[in-house]
Amino acid sequence: MKLRVGILGATGAVGQKFVRLLEGHPWFELTALAASERSAGKSYGEAAHWIESTPLPASVAQMEVRLCEPGLDCDLVFSGLDSSVAGPVEKAFAAAGYPVISNAKNHRMDDDVPLLIPEVNPEHLALIERQNHASSGFIVTNPNCATVGLTMALKPLQDAFGIDAVQVTTMQALSGAGYPGVASLDAVANVIPFIGGEEDKLETEPLRLLAPLASNNGEPAVIPLEIPISAQCNRVPVLEGHMECVSVKLHGSPSMERVRQALADFVWPSEVAALPSAPVRCLDLLEDETAPQPRRDVHRGAGMTVSIGRLRSCPVFDVRFVVLSHNTIRGAAGGAILNAELLASRGLLLHRDRPS
Ligand code: NAP
Repeated sequence: MKLRVGILGATGAVGQKFVRLLEGHPWFELTALAASERSAGKSYGEAAHWIESTPLPASVAQMEVRLCEPGLDCDLVFSGLDSSVAGPVEKAFAAAGYPVISNAKNHRMDDDVPLLIPEVNPEHLALIERQNHASSGFIVTNPNCATVGLTMALKPLQDAFGIDAVQVTTMQALSGAGYPGVASLDAVANVIPFIGGEEDKLETEPLRLLAPLASNNGEPAVIPLEIPISAQCNRVPVLEGHMECVSVKLHGSPSMERVRQALADFVWPSEVAALPSAPVRCLDLLEDETAPQPRRDVHRGAGMTVSIGRLRSCPVFDVRFVVLSHNTIRGAAGGAILNAELLASRGLLLHRDRPS
């Protein structure tokens, strides 16, 4: 029997991506949609301004949007909630026994909450043990949409050599700002060299994701690495796909050949490779000197593959390259669904009684 899933923030850009990616999912069945009081009580077709490029499934269009309150008819919830409300709402659902798989920033750095990329740090799921919800509820988060691509590219380098310093400049898609997002007169034919809070996330989240699982008084713990990361973030008029120009200083200044090999040969856990939403390759190392490009490469691996191109030596650091990842699939809904699949495969998602 499939697990019944609900979406909090179902009407937004990320919520809509969840709706699309969950259509026909082999393990999950969409049974509940929730958003703000502006949308509650309406049909989803009425409440959501559908921005996906495939038609809204008729069965979903007819579903009623509910308030984001426990009591939803589902076994777990995905959260695509605005961060102004996600914190307490997600806590309330976890306390009521729902596993919460969140995209929002609010709980990402909580000591007892896994910040998860299945190919990078599946062992961090052990932190769930520390969440003291009486029932089966807990919170698991996925990282900021620009953090995902950067961290997946850094993971093989940290494993093979160790990283001394990182400099990253991003070119981030408009869909990363949600809907309606950036005003068209600001966005068209323009670049905005500021995305509120984004640089701080890029400078901190990878340090937690790349840290090994440690023990603190016998309890699982994650102590963030201490690697300087300098980030500059820009909003560019691209629809989907965050691109990042990255320079990395490595321990021992390894040869370019060894760096290329480390990226090309990256092996991720087989339990993750077997999940329904896992791409065949989670990293694609592209040799074409004009790659990666959002229009050409963002849909690799159905939006779950991170592309790396322009790999070459750096006269200031050791190596430099360009990373591209899909911000609303790998960086949000697709990443969260992969997280839920990992939880399900480990038996951490259970069927709940239907609300009376
Ligand atoms: P969005 O398009 O603005 O959608 C926000 C959602 O939150 C809507 O469903 C909205 O419902 C709901 N909401 C707002 N206020 C609420 C309230 N008071 N009570 C209940 N629901 C409320 O934003 P988004 O881009 O989808 O982002 C959603 C979350 O994911 C954010 O935390 C964002 O930081 C994170 N995220 C986004 C991306 C991306 O690429 N876009 C990537 C990674 C993470 P109504 O329609 O009813 O107002």
